[in-house]
Amino acid sequence: GDARRTPMIAGNWKMNLDHLQAVALVQKLHWALKDARHEPGSVEVALFPPFTDLRTVQTLLDADKIPFALGAQDLSAHESGAYTGEVSGAFLARLDCRYVIIGHSERRAYHDETDEVVAAKVQAALRHSLVPVICVGETAEDLQTHGASAVPVGQLQAALAGVASGAEVVVAYEPVWAIGSGQAATPDQAQEVCATLRDVVAAAIGADAAARTRVLYGGSVKSGNIAAFMREPDVDGALVGGASLVADEFAAIIRYQK
Ligand code: PGA
Repeated sequence: GDARRTPMIAGNWKMNLDHLQAVALVQKLHWALKDARHEPGSVEVALFPPFTDLRTVQTLLDADKIPFALGAQDLSAHESGAYTGEVSGAFLARLDCRYVIIGHSERRAYHDETDEVVAAKVQAALRHSLVPVICVGETAEDLQTHGASAVPVGQLQAALAGVASGAEVVVAYEPVWAIGSGQAATPDQAQEVCATLRDVVAAAIGADAAARTRVLYGGSVKSGNIAAFMREPDVDGALVGGASLVADEFAAIIRYQK
């Protein structure tokens, strides 16, 4: 991390936890952080529940003044109309979502999301003042044939095409081989790609915006490896899957400094 940027720890719940289970997890997490005298503001905590949980989590955060940001795991590239099953950026903004994950490798792999679709979704997010959390990353095969940076760089360039300079975005570098595998990248590997991705942000939307942009690492982040990632100058936080579903473990990741 870098003192100019507030670190961000993001919990991507994927297709886990219904809205009742969501309440239990958010409350446990809030209490776990209270006990540790976690200073709100030193780290931004963002939760990405399934769509069906968003209203419930929004209401809970608001009622109990819990300082977590809310985001969705995806959105539609379209504004409204005959798109059965899709959820618009307008709806998410109405639920106080501040963030939306776009281009997660599971969407790219299982829902055939191309770079063009990802770019259209980034535009849709920005139209509604949602901050896109743009996910990029190479597969094990890409790593072998092109090295670590080539695929994520291309994905990010495509996602940022047409984004106005100075826009707020978050970038998540998630090597596909590290997601859910228990085999995280090394801090060195993450730093190298995250620094390269920051250069891509600078070229696309300006050096000032790049200096403000949080670049996260994701892929098998746990309480035992988070601190090493956070010591890297261009890693500004983490996008956490599995470990975000367990309150004590996710709280330990958020309290990585201690
Ligand atoms: P993981 O998932 O932490 O379970 O590896 C990360 C992600 O897919 O965002």
